[in-house]
Parts: sequence; C-alpha cells; structure tokens
Amino acid sequence: METIGLIVPCYNEEPSIELFYKEVERVFNEMKKNNLNYNHEYWFINDGSSDETLNIIKELNEKDEDVHYVSFSRNFGKESAMAAGLDNVGGDYVAVMDVDLQDPPALLPKMIKYIKEDDYDVVGCVQKTRKQNPIRAFLSSTFYKVINKMSDVEIKQNVRDYRLMTRQYVDNVLKLKEYNRFTKGIFSWVGFKTKYIEYNGVERAAGTSHWSLYQLLEYSLEGIVDFSDVPLKIATWVGGTSFFLSILGLILVIFRAIIFGGSVAGWPSLVSIILLINGIQLFCLGIVGNYIGKIYLETKHRPKYIVKEKK
Ligand code: UDP
Ligand code: MG
Repeated sequence: METIGLIVPCYNEEPSIELFYKEVERVFNEMKKNNLNYNHEYWFINDGSSDETLNIIKELNEKDEDVHYVSFSRNFGKESAMAAGLDNVGGDYVAVMDVDLQDPPALLPKMIKYIKEDDYDVVGCVQKTRKQNPIRAFLSSTFYKVINKMSDVEIKQNVRDYRLMTRQYVDNVLKLKEYNRFTKGIFSWVGFKTKYIEYNGVERAAGTSHWSLYQLLEYSLEGIVDFSDVPLKIATWVGGTSFFLSILGLILVIFRAIIFGGSVAGWPSLVSIILLINGIQLFCLGIVGNYIGKIYLETKHRPKYIVKEKK
C-alpha cells in the first residue's frame, strides 16, 4: 500500500493538535470506506513552541507509531519547519499542511485523485473567500501582482502552502538548498504539472495566528528578493534617469547664467533637489543592500534549523 506523508509545522498550537489528528484519522478512515487505501505518516515539526505542543505530540507518538516529530532548539519560522519536514518525511506522496485545520484534510481524497487519475505531479490549494481587513487584502493582491511581473515564478493569488506532491517532485524540491527560503516560490520554480483546486477559506480551529502585518511585509519582500533581480534593475534605471535629468538641468543653468547673468535666487529649490537626489541614492542603496544581506546569509552556509529531538 502506498503512503502519504504529512508535514505539519506547529508553533504554540496546543489546542489544535488533537483536533487536527482526529480530523486526519477520520478522513483516512473515510477514504478506506471509499476504497482509497493509503497508509499515512505524520511529521509534526515543533518550531520552538513554549507551550505544551511538544508534550502533546509526544503523547500521540507513544500511542501511534505513524506519528513522528522533529523538535527545534528554538523558533526558526514556518519556512524552516517545512524544510525540516521535507528533509525527513517518507512516503510516496507528501502533503504540507497547517495544524489549525485551515488546510482542510478533507481535501486530500480529491487531491490524490488528481495525481493518480489525471497524471498531475502536484495539487495546490487556493483559498477562495478569505475574511481579511481591506488593507491586508490590498497589500496581498499588490504583492502577487508585483512578484508575478518581476520574477520568472508564477504564484497564484491566495495559494496556500497546503499541497500534495509526488515523491519525485519532493526529491527535486530538496535539491534547492538555499538558506533564504520562500517556499511558495520554490514550489513554483521546480515546475512539473500542477493542478490548483479552490476551496472556501475556514477560520482557525483553535489558537491564534502568528503573523503580524510587519512579518507579512518582510515575507513579501523575501519573496521578491529571492526570486527576482528586477529591483536591482530598477535601481539602475532610477539612478540613470536622475543622472540624465541632472545633466539637462546643469546645461539649462549654464545657459541661463550666460544669457541672463548669475543669480543667487533659487536656494530652496536647490536644497530640495539635493534632498531628492539623496533620497533616490539611499533608496537604490537600500535595494542593493537587501541583496547583499541575502548573499551574506547565504554564504555563511548556516543550517536552516537546529534539531533538538527527533523520533
Ligand atoms: N508556524 C510555525 N512557525 C512559526 C509560525 C507558524 O511552524 O513561526 C505554523 C503554525 O503552527 C501553523 C502554520 O505555521 O501550523 C500557519 O501559521 P498561522 O496559522 O499562524 O498562519 P496563517 O494561517 O494565519 O497564515
Ligand atoms: Mg492558520
């Protein structure tokens, strides 16, 4: 019988884990009844939780031999947790899913059918309706537009990290060893035949989300810097254009001085222009700095996460 490996990142999720486990068990029993026979194994990744998350996972591990876990030495973030999951998970198919049931396990039978019957390599999930405040919704749709324009990866708006993948696909994802990880981009970059299914967004089963607006902005920036060098080109163009305009201005000023004589008027405008040019320079320097920062982290070859316990 084939096996589906489930990667489940958990950060302070003590109220959700049991609910998640029960729901997955229910779904696999249901699948058996419908002649979809698959083994499954869990890989819970405890991302440095400070609550009872690890103990709850350990209890499950003791009573169910299909439950495995990796526990980090501190919080490394969901991207690292997913990387650890991919490094450890077995199985012929692999799914990454949130423990808060916002990635409904009930979609798994539909996903596996697309892979088995329609020859897809990956099935991703796109959240259709999503209750978000207008600012977040606007920022998020802008982010997807920008990254799709700027990079050679295509990322669907509102796509979740939730996806079912074949072993071959996972093995290829593992070849991307980068330290700065934007998994949505990595998944898209690897290619293969991907099917996207839509579903209505659901609220968290329990607990609270860990994302602040600032973290989401950082995450978006990570995505753009990791998968596009267009900002660097923009910096070059902005720099080039302002240089060209200054030359024009200079010529204008020289001619004016020759024709009308020198003038001391115009200091405020001069100061404004200096500030503007300085602003542009710092902006471009910032863009370049962002890339250098990434290169710096990348060249250190630090591990993406540190494992404290594994079973
Ligand atoms: N998560 C994690 N490490 C973190 C933050 C989150 O492993 O530093 C996990 C979390 O436990 C959950 C998933 O990532 O299973 C998604 O997190 P969350 O529900 O907070 O994000 P949202 O659904 O709001 O995008
Ligand atoms: Mg969630």
